[in-house]
Amino acid sequence: MISIENIIERVSSSKKPSREDIVSLLSLEGDDATKLFEAADSITKQNFNNEIYIRGIIEFSNYCRCNCSYCGLAAFNRKIPRYRMSVEEIVETAHKAFEASYKTIVLQSGEDMFYTSDMICEIVKQIKSIGDIAITLSVGERPFEEYQKFIEAGADRFLIKHETADETLYNSLHPHSNFENRITCLKNLKKLGFQTGSGFMIGLPGQTLDTIASDILLLHDLGIHMAGIGPFLPHPETPLKDTPSGSTFLTLKAVALTRLIIKNAMLPATTSLGVANVADKNHSFKSGANVIMQKLQPYKYRRLYEIYPKATGHEKSIIQERQELENLIKSFGRSVSASRGDHKNFF
Ligand code: SAH
Repeated sequence: MISIENIIERVSSSKKPSREDIVSLLSLEGDDATKLFEAADSITKQNFNNEIYIRGIIEFSNYCRCNCSYCGLAAFNRKIPRYRMSVEEIVETAHKAFEASYKTIVLQSGEDMFYTSDMICEIVKQIKSIGDIAITLSVGERPFEEYQKFIEAGADRFLIKHETADETLYNSLHPHSNFENRITCLKNLKKLGFQTGSGFMIGLPGQTLDTIASDILLLHDLGIHMAGIGPFLPHPETPLKDTPSGSTFLTLKAVALTRLIIKNAMLPATTSLGVANVADKNHSFKSGANVIMQKLQPYKYRRLYEIYPKATGHEKSIIQERQELENLIKSFGRSVSASRGDHKNFF
């Protein structure tokens, strides 16, 4: 019988690994899973020098026109108060972040058409004028022409997860859109020259290990530069409120496999993974993740950006939070990168 080591080696050295090998590694338990995590960690260290990249994220609006069945920000949720940050507030927050050493600002929101493409371009330009800051947009599906304006205004990266590679499941969870359009968005972004991020959730109803293998192979086929992989967490005001949370262990195995297959990808220890405890965060850095995001927007807004339920914690300053995060990363035996953390194809 072929050993686990051999399958790990075969997956990490092949141009396009087989679905069967991916599924068999996703099924590993105990010491065998540890071998997978160790292999992923060693590839991360070879490619990124033990460095972790910190991104600052401004979740600037929780208005959303979509009705994703899993998301607490969905338009059907009439229970959460909605907020929008003004251009000035967003730029001021980015300014404070730059002073606290952030080199990447992620601008994320629900799909809120209040922010026209011109407004988003204005925000991008103003933040770019502060200093050498990379900007990642995560504002959902927009037409090609708008994405083009964003890159012309100076945006560097764009995140839009494919969420699940099972087209039927995707379409049932997203009544307002469809899988084909999501993939078109990802392809358009790549074509335009964005550092492009996708990703998916673990634990969606009806998902199997085979689906997760398709998710990882899709990241590979799209040639993505960044991928956020996180457990699904039920939100009480959504149709999926009774679906159990996705497994942390399976999520970590999916991250590790992605590292084996797409060696240079920027892979965040997703926020939904860190919700449970600090040990999970450390475990994700030992399983192939090399990026972490820290929220930046004022606390009065953080409490309302409720994609899934989570505690907001005690109010601290942007500088203090940055310091604490750096200390945490160092306590894991990792160093904090001082660079913008661009994907290697974009130096
Ligand atoms: N509107 C933007 C940003 C989406 S929110 C867009 O469409 O790209 C960011 C991510 O949160 C989503 O891509 C999704 O993967 C994740 N998410 C949403 N609801 C979730 C839930 N209940 N549990 C875990 N992750 C969730």
